[in-house]
Amino acid sequence: MRLRNITGSREMIAENEFVIHQPEQNKGKWNTVFKNTNPIHIEIGMGKGKFLHTLAQNNPGVNYLGIEKYSSVLLRAIQKMEEAPLLNLRFIRMDAESITEVFGKEEVERIYLNFSDPWPKDRHAKRRLPSAEFLNRYDSILKKDGRLEFKTDNRELFDFAVEQLPVAGWRAEAVTYDLHKDNALMEGNIMTEYEEKFSSMGNPICKYIICR
Ligand code: SAM
Repeated sequence: MRLRNITGSREMIAENEFVIHQPEQNKGKWNTVFKNTNPIHIEIGMGKGKFLHTLAQNNPGVNYLGIEKYSSVLLRAIQKMEEAPLLNLRFIRMDAESITEVFGKEEVERIYLNFSDPWPKDRHAKRRLPSAEFLNRYDSILKKDGRLEFKTDNRELFDFAVEQLPVAGWRAEAVTYDLHKDNALMEGNIMTEYEEKFSSMGNPICKYIICR
């Protein structure tokens, strides 16, 4: 999601209280940021942040961190927080390629990927957030019994993601190719901005929940 580049968005974010600046300084001690020992769940490629904001509202006993690469997109999530501030939600502006510099070993209990950018060219496959390269990074920050959940309407990206699981030593606990018709997996489902848009166009939504 590349929203119109909002002039000054980087500067606005630099001063924002909901954004964690120099996140690598909290590696291994994120609980001190939230001042409790609640589990940490992260969304990578959060976009405008509706999904994570709703999750954080519904689950005050979990700490949430939303990761987003672009300031202009992150600004929308910040605006939502300013309207309805939450103690258990904070944001990081970074490229997820350096995720292992920001979280310690097994520091994260759950990872969400929603409607990740497809990077359709083969030579860019390593940039896809559910690629084996990224699964290896997640492996080091996720608790041994942690889970990763991924949703997309992009069937090619989803097929690629499923193929990557054995390559990186992960396995699927649940898989659906039409989430909105799957009563069990739909329980408690929170729609992301992209999910609302693409499901309203009739696109089936694929989802997996994976573990090692
Ligand atoms: N998750 C949201 C949703 O479902 O509505 C947004 C989906 S949007 C297609 C993908 C988002 O991931 C964009 O905002 C993009 O900037 C972000 N993103 C892509 N690659 C990223 C990376 N390597 N690190 C952090 N954010 C990334």
